[in-house]
Amino acid sequence: MKTIDDLNFNGLKAIIRVDFNVPLNDKFEITDPTRIDAAIPTIKKIINDGGMAILMSHLGRPKQGPEDKFSLRHLAPALSEKLGVNVKFASDCIGDVPRKLVSEMKKGEVLLLENLRFYNDEKAGNFEFAEKLASLADVYVNDAFGTAHRAHASTAIIAGYFPDAKYFGYVMVNELTHINALLSDAKKPFTAILGGAKVSGKIEIIKNLLNKVDNLIIGGGMMFTFIKAMGGNIGNSLIEEDLIDTAKQILKDAKIKNVEILIPVDAVIADKFSNDANKKVSASNEIPDGWMGLDIGAKTREMFSEVIAKSKTILWNGPMGVFEMPAFAEGTQFVAEKIAEATEKGTYSLVGGGDSVAAINKYNLADKVTYVSTGGGAMLEFIEGKALPGVRAIEG
Ligand code: AMP
Repeated sequence: MKTIDDLNFNGLKAIIRVDFNVPLNDKFEITDPTRIDAAIPTIKKIINDGGMAILMSHLGRPKQGPEDKFSLRHLAPALSEKLGVNVKFASDCIGDVPRKLVSEMKKGEVLLLENLRFYNDEKAGNFEFAEKLASLADVYVNDAFGTAHRAHASTAIIAGYFPDAKYFGYVMVNELTHINALLSDAKKPFTAILGGAKVSGKIEIIKNLLNKVDNLIIGGGMMFTFIKAMGGNIGNSLIEEDLIDTAKQILKDAKIKNVEILIPVDAVIADKFSNDANKKVSASNEIPDGWMGLDIGAKTREMFSEVIAKSKTILWNGPMGVFEMPAFAEGTQFVAEKIAEATEKGTYSLVGGGDSVAAINKYNLADKVTYVSTGGGAMLEFIEGKALPGVRAIEG
């Protein structure tokens, strides 16, 4: 793996793809700086070497051309503070504006380019656009794991213009090292805990994980497709009818592969999808009509807890229930706490995917698990066994 530690950046201009797609409030203040914080060590290494850092990212989902609410200029003050350097801003990411600013850069300086997605060429993976970005620098660094599963101009195509000068930043190195270790070198028993709304987005992951794990814990809305597949009554719970056969097949495959699948035995059920719904506990396969399962029940929590405590490696993706509503958050919080307890006793735990990261942060447990992966979609595709274009572009 070619990383930024392999190069002294002294006197070199490096164009760095970072993931600064952070949430902003209506005053354009950053409400969660995790992604910016993650990129700081990479930027510091380059400027401390005497290099010049040209930062490029996307922010939000601009539809057609520039929109002030998605301008990266909003991030420059916070970034300057974090780096202890006055970060300059280029109001365009290609053309005369950045070219002039780049030509004036001195050692140790940082320039932030405007939102790449103000050009449709970014997502289209346009070669000319990538070449224009590339023309600004001597070296390309990719540190945006969160977009590594996309073959965009700045994440993959641009690397082709730096055949001998392309490197992974520290965020990439960390993510790839942790996820690779989990997939190739996990201590057993290895338990994967999957939750969230739908089975549909997780089928490939489940299939790949069946070759690796000893236990597969299923929670969240996706459990009901499995319970239905086993002949249970799930009332008005979330269901993906077209995946019932797939769920049956997964249950069969798990048996053949000697993987224990743990499906909830009880559920907290509600008479409407609301925090103030009437709620009670029911067997997960006897949910009355008019009621829906929105969290795992106490018996299930205990069952999961035993398996978690015995595991040496844990991968967690997806909440156990509708944890955004306090009335149905108990299962998710419980599982998060049990993972933290196991970690304290030496278990390796990796938490990834948007909602489980939100949950682990909500319960202040982020530093009580071994690793929190910031790249939701990229992490899932990597676990599915797919090659990530952003990774391949640097390695190739
Ligand atoms: P995903 O994006 O597939 O990981 O799904 C995350 C979402 O699943 C969260 O917003 C949860 O509120 C939701 N979720 C979890 N459990 C349930 C459930 N039992 N019924 C409906 N939605 C759920």
